[in-house]
Amino acid sequence: MPQLAKRMGRAKPSAIMAVAEKAKKLKAEGRDIISFSIGVPNFLPGEHVYAAAREALSHDSGQYGSNRGSDALLDAFLKHLEGSGLPGYTRRNLCVGVGAKHLLYNLAEALLDAGDTIAFATPYWTTYVDIADILEAKTLLLPCPPEQNYKLTPAQLDAALAQKPKVFLFNNPSNPTGMVYSKAEIEALAAVVAKHPDTWVVLDDIYNRLVFGDIGYHNFLHSQPQLRERTIVVDSLSKTYGMPGWRVGLIAAPESVAQAVVTLNSNHITNIPEVVSAAATAALSGPQDVTTGKVAEFAAKRDLVLDALAKIPGVVCPRPEGAFYAFPDISVAFGKTHAGSGIAIDSDVDVCNALLEVKGVACVPGSAFGEPRALRISYTCSTPQLTDGMARIQQFFAELV
Ligand code: PMP
Repeated sequence: MPQLAKRMGRAKPSAIMAVAEKAKKLKAEGRDIISFSIGVPNFLPGEHVYAAAREALSHDSGQYGSNRGSDALLDAFLKHLEGSGLPGYTRRNLCVGVGAKHLLYNLAEALLDAGDTIAFATPYWTTYVDIADILEAKTLLLPCPPEQNYKLTPAQLDAALAQKPKVFLFNNPSNPTGMVYSKAEIEALAAVVAKHPDTWVVLDDIYNRLVFGDIGYHNFLHSQPQLRERTIVVDSLSKTYGMPGWRVGLIAAPESVAQAVVTLNSNHITNIPEVVSAAATAALSGPQDVTTGKVAEFAAKRDLVLDALAKIPGVVCPRPEGAFYAFPDISVAFGKTHAGSGIAIDSDVDVCNALLEVKGVACVPGSAFGEPRALRISYTCSTPQLTDGMARIQQFFAELV
């Protein structure tokens, strides 16, 4: 009997999807379930995006397209980059992909040989580890516990880069923590990166437009523009424009890296569809009010979540400033038992299973993101659902003995 490739022994299905599937199943059985599990935006793109898609459909060529992306889409992304303080790129620095996930995978293929090291902070977005595992790269995990607000410190980064990892991957705003680095914090980290010339830098900035309050979005290239020669900025339309299913991501990179990703595209996907490109171009270059409206809404929802968590003794939640996640430390529950059900709680997975079982609330265990003391709440559902779900979480903790 032929066997699957060895790499499939390393590839794991997404832990987030597993929770979401379980919640869906219980719902289908008639249970009253509130899902705080998947990080999906709760909105659709503006009408101009659909109009552009319809228009493109009416004169669709039906042909293969550019491996790099359509000129119109690349130009719209150049404008977007300029608007976020990153002028001076050309189309040759850019490449499109089937979402940021695909681009991160492509970048790992382009930059890492088997046995090379990729460094990133924990908590991390789950896929980072999975991509490294599939490609047989080593991971250098930089622990950023709740006590340091889940943020990487310059000293920590300095020590990590001194080990000369091939790639340093940095995510801001963060999934799963919602943390956003301030201008001063980014400048301090960028100064450290500048001291270590042997490492590629991949910035997963896909939540860059979902930042609350005054903290703003900053990246290493703002203060250290010379880092452009070894830095790749990864962006996506999924979260910002309510278009996760359209599957559009983009990178801005040194020409050699962008070209490598174009080459991989030519072998993996050829192109993204013409209609999708037109819709993505309209999203990037059209009115931005859908996104700005969502920023205000998510900030209010963040407050609701934090207020509810603050009422649970012993639960600590560093304050998220962006994206749509909260990542409370719930380790106060470990060693206790849920009084009504008799379920013993010894881990984040136990908390999430019991919460779903007893209260019908689905959260993702922090261990999926490398932090087993926490759980992730994705707060994109409606305000009444959010209020109800947070009340159920409060009750659950009140019932622990
Ligand atoms: N990076 C991070 C940090 C994410 O949270 C996600 C989606 N959950 C992605 C990349 C991938 O986004 P997409 O493939 O939808 O563009």
